[in-house]
This record gives sequence, C-alpha cells and structure tokens, in this order.
Amino acid sequence: MKKCPNCGTQARDEWTLCPSCGIDLRKAAGILGRDYYVPLESEPVFTGTAGPAQQGMIVPPLVAAVPARPVPVPGYSSNVWLILLLFGTILAAIVWAPLAWICVVLSGIAVHVDAKYLHAGNYQKETFSSVTWNPFSWALLVFIWWFVGMPFYLYRRRLIWETYRDDIR
Ligand SMILES: [Zn+2]
Repeated sequence: MKKCPNCGTQARDEWTLCPSCGIDLRKAAGILGRDYYVPLESEPVFTGTAGPAQQGMIVPPLVAAVPARPVPVPGYSSNVWLILLLFGTILAAIVWAPLAWICVVLSGIAVHVDAKYLHAGNYQKETFSSVTWNPFSWALLVFIWWFVGMPFYLYRRRLIWETYRDDIR
C-alpha cells in the first residue's frame, strides 16, 4: 500500500490512479512538488500579502472522485504469439516431450522480449506485487515454473501494460 500524496487515501501499490482524487500517482510527486501527504491543517500557511482566497487554495484535490478501480484503458492488444506458445507448449507436452522443453525455452525468451517491450517493472524496486517485476524475473519464472509463470504472465499482461503504457512510447 502507498499513500496518495495529494489526498492521503491508501492506494494499492499496482494502482496508477488514486481511487479517491484520481491523481496519477506516478506523476503526483512532480505535480505537487512532494511525494508524501501533508494534511491540510499542517500545510504551511502562506505568509505573504495574499488575501484569504489564496489560503483557501492550499492543496485542493486536483480531480473529482473517480471509481475505485480505474476504468480499463482502451488501446490494449494481446500478444497472439504468447497465447499460441501457451497452447503450443501444452500440445507439445502431450505429443512429444522434447518439443515441450524447446517451447518452454522459447516461452522464457518470448516473455522476456514482451515484458521488456511493456517496460514491465520499469527498473523500479521489485516487491511482492507482480507489476513491479522486471522482464528477467518474468522470464525466469516462466523458465523454471512454466505451468504457473506463463498463464500468470498472460493474466497480468494487461495490468502491466496499463501501468507502464506512458513509458512504452
Ligand atoms: Zn488522492
């Protein structure tokens, strides 16, 4: 959990928007000039020649309330190759085991390339939350524990994309 620096609401680590005020939590520090929350009453009061209007303007929530879960962002497209590889590996495991091992290696490489393209983790500190995992960690998980790693990556891919989509361009 992290605290919104604008309104103080608790937000889950993988969320990019504050559930209460809607501020982009990755840009909040830049917008507000700080990355921690300051309650209104403890905010230093403007001591210049300003009138009361300016005192009332201290850290207003920037955006009106938004739904707790950000609305899915349009523009996402699945990686068809990874989905084909998922079913291809299962098929290979049934038909001819050596081919399945080749598919597992290919899956690890494909996930690394894909996660790198999505800027997964974006070189931040990795935590228990899977959106912070970097491409190498994903590839390693897929490589050593394919049956969990591969479906989990595909399940998490959209959230990774939503989290880092601003960095992809
Ligand atoms: Zn907030």
